[in-house]
Amino acid sequence: VVLALMTVNQVRIIYLDKPTHQEEDNHHKRIKIGFSLGTLKEERWIKDRDIVMAKVKEMGADIIVLNANNDDQDQLKQVKALLNQSIDVLIIVPNDLHKAAEAVELAKKQGVKVISYDRLVLNSNVDLYISFDNERVGELMAEAIAERLSKGNLLIINGATSDNNTKQLKVGYNRVLNDKIVDGSINLVAEEWAPLWMKEYAFSETDKFLQSKTKIDAIIAGNDGLADGIIEALSQHRLAGETLVVGQDADLAACQRIVEGTQLMTVYKPIEKLADATARMAIQMAKGEELTNIKNTINDGRYDVPYYVLEPIPVFKENLDETILKDGFHMYDEVYRNK
Ligand code: BGC
Repeated sequence: VVLALMTVNQVRIIYLDKPTHQEEDNHHKRIKIGFSLGTLKEERWIKDRDIVMAKVKEMGADIIVLNANNDDQDQLKQVKALLNQSIDVLIIVPNDLHKAAEAVELAKKQGVKVISYDRLVLNSNVDLYISFDNERVGELMAEAIAERLSKGNLLIINGATSDNNTKQLKVGYNRVLNDKIVDGSINLVAEEWAPLWMKEYAFSETDKFLQSKTKIDAIIAGNDGLADGIIEALSQHRLAGETLVVGQDADLAACQRIVEGTQLMTVYKPIEKLADATARMAIQMAKGEELTNIKNTINDGRYDVPYYVLEPIPVFKENLDETILKDGFHMYDEVYRNK
C-alpha cells in the first residue's frame, strides 16, 4: 500500500507495508472465469448462464461464456479457446459425460481448476462437482407416481444416455419402483432414452404406444421438455390429464400444465443457489483458497471427487405458490395465464 504525503515543497512516499510479488500480480490481473455450457436448449440453462455471469461480475471478476449447442467437438474447441484466453477456472456443463474428459485434461495440464456444473464429467478427477442431488430428483418423481398408482402400466422416457444425470435419475426411480415392478403391481411397458433430450422423440414414442392402443397409466419424463412432447401426444389422443406425467426443472410451461391439470408434478431446482455457490467457489479456487464447505464426494468412475450437493424440491399444484412463486422463479401471471 502506497501513501503519498504532500508537504509544501516535497512529495514523500511512504510504504506502509511492502507488497509481495503475489499481491502485485493479483493487483494487476483480474480473475477470469470460463463457463462452457453444453446446451442452452432448455429454459433453465438461460437462468444458469445469466445468474452465474451476474454473480461472478458482482464479485469483481471477469467471465467468458460459450455454448456448444449440443456438439461435443464444438465444446472441446470452445474450451481450448477459453484456455487460450488464460482463464483461471473452468466451469463446464459437459455435453457428453465421457468425451468432455479431454477438455478437463487440457485445463488441468494448464493448471486451470475445473468445476463440473450440474452434470458430472466421468473419469477425469474434476476439482469440484456441484449439482442438485440427481438420485433424489429421480426418487421424488417416482414417489409421486408410486403414491397414486397402486396398479397399472408405466412408461419411462429418459433423457440422453450421454448425460450422467440420466443414470443418476434412474438409480432414484429404481430405488422407489423396483419392488412394485418385481411384484407385478406396476408393469413397466417400456423404457426409452431420448437422444439429446429431444422432446420430438418423446412425442413420437408416446404416440406410438397410444396408436397401438396400449393403456398407459403413468409416464416418467426425464425432464419437463420431454414431458411437453409426451403431453402433446396425450392430448392428441384426448388423454391429457388422464395419464399421470412427472418431469423436472419447473419449466414455465410445466408449471402452467400443473395448474391446468395435465402434468402431475415437476421437480424444482432453485438455480440461483447452484449458480451462486458456483460463482463463489470458482472465485475462491481462482484465488488459491481452500474450499472448506464440501462435505461429500462422488465417484466419477475412477476418482472420488468433492461434491457440493443441493436439495431438489417436489412441486405439485398444491405447493406451487409457496415454492416457485414465492422464490420468484416464475411470476404469478405467467403461471396462471388463463385464470
Ligand atoms: C439437467 C436437467 C436438464 C437436462 C437437459 C440435465 O443434465 O440436470 O435439468 O433438463 O440436462 O438439458
